Amino acid sequence: MQLTLRAYIDGVSDWSLDPQTVIDFYVKKAKQENSKYNMIVRFHDDYIQQNLDTLKKGTLKGAPIVLKDNFLTKWYISSCWSKMLENYVAPYSATCFETLEKNGWLMIGKGNMDEFAMGSSTETSYFGVTYNPYGTGRVPGWSSGWSAVAVASDCCLGALWTDTSWSVRQPAALCGIVGMKPTYWMVSRSGVQSMASSLDQVGVFTKTVEDAEILLKAVAGFDEKDSQSDPRADEFLTSKPKKLDVKKLKIALPKEVFSEGLDPRIKELLLQKVEQLRALWCDVQEVSLPVLSYGIPLYYSLMPAELGTNLARFDGIKFGLQNKSLEHDDLASYYQKIRSEWFGDEAKRRILLSSFVLSSANYEWYYLRAQKIREQMIQDVDTIFETYDFILGPTTPSVAWKMWERSADPIQMYLEDFYTVSANICGGPAMTVPMGMIDDNWEKMPAWIHFMAQRWEEEKLFAFGKVVENL
Ligand code: GLN
Repeated sequence: MQLTLRAYIDGVSDWSLDPQTVIDFYVKKAKQENSKYNMIVRFHDDYIQQNLDTLKKGTLKGAPIVLKDNFLTKWYISSCWSKMLENYVAPYSATCFETLEKNGWLMIGKGNMDEFAMGSSTETSYFGVTYNPYGTGRVPGWSSGWSAVAVASDCCLGALWTDTSWSVRQPAALCGIVGMKPTYWMVSRSGVQSMASSLDQVGVFTKTVEDAEILLKAVAGFDEKDSQSDPRADEFLTSKPKKLDVKKLKIALPKEVFSEGLDPRIKELLLQKVEQLRALWCDVQEVSLPVLSYGIPLYYSLMPAELGTNLARFDGIKFGLQNKSLEHDDLASYYQKIRSEWFGDEAKRRILLSSFVLSSANYEWYYLRAQKIREQMIQDVDTIFETYDFILGPTTPSVAWKMWERSADPIQMYLEDFYTVSANICGGPAMTVPMGMIDDNWEKMPAWIHFMAQRWEEEKLFAFGKVVENL
């Protein structure tokens, strides 16, 4: 069985598929494959039993989908794959989880991620790494790697994830599936553990662009519990899929994306796609967008500042695992010891960065300057969108690498977000779609194309995604 979400919904609707059989198949397969890839940390068989009958009446018909462990789920552990939250059960569920439930989505389990969604290639997860289904011993991409693996290895029909600089799009790309991050204000973040609040957004992993559209429509919407939520999100729910006249499209290809670090084989595939688009009379033009080069320094100034603030609540008293036998002199030493003990190395590294960029000596130079450059980037990207419909590029500079190969050089890893981070900084929607396979050390690895659109232009992005998918 290899189903798309669309095929599942249609099959259950016309009685040609039995939901229970499909779900049993996927749960069994996910459990088997888990021993190879280590993708799902907790299966929720009891949840399936209790809820399937109700969920299959919803629009998604009880479709088996998986969930990142930083979405709060009442009654079930939400650990963010940190020792700090090993046994944490939230008193309420994230709005987007509840919305999906209302639409008939069935959670089969929760899975691996980098600790608190930061890091490199699932190597920072407290519960062990996840492997890419392509190649041997390769990373699946970072933060959300495991759910990309679950979708790519056909253990579920889709997944819900968060994307702060690329965490939906890069793992999707490394595992050869579709990853989509919507406009910042489109999906409620209430009940989603924040990494960097002004950049985080909930996104979807699916096998096709059409499935991404279905899943996003089942999770988006205005939510008064999220102060950043926008009523325009409800307009998307009732909008009809857009018909694009490809001949009228204008696409910007910033020359900055052909930076030094880009694997020449990815560049070649991307240029092939550009030629295919031009053959459809699509107007693809090279443009200059120098502000893109500031994306990484900007992200690594703003993100740690927000992340450090968000992690401050985990101290073993307000939130986080306690240790009653821990010897300590006073409250400060208890905080210090508990945070040293339960946070992993990457979390500690980023807390240090946070203290650095927010310290009185550096605040203006790093944090405030980054805010100003963010404004500049938004203006420059908006100017491009006055003339062009999409901005095109690769998703990452290289194909999936071998586990631990790059972990000694975190700075090098940080540079990997270059192509995707501007969508988070500007708040617009972006998508990654597979564009072909590359031979890398005798293994065929997926390569991908990335495109972003102006804020709230999801329908247009999906329509274009379908064009690119069929090239
Ligand atoms: N590379 C990003 C980081 O480590 C991943 C963040 C994300 O999108 N969750 O900060």
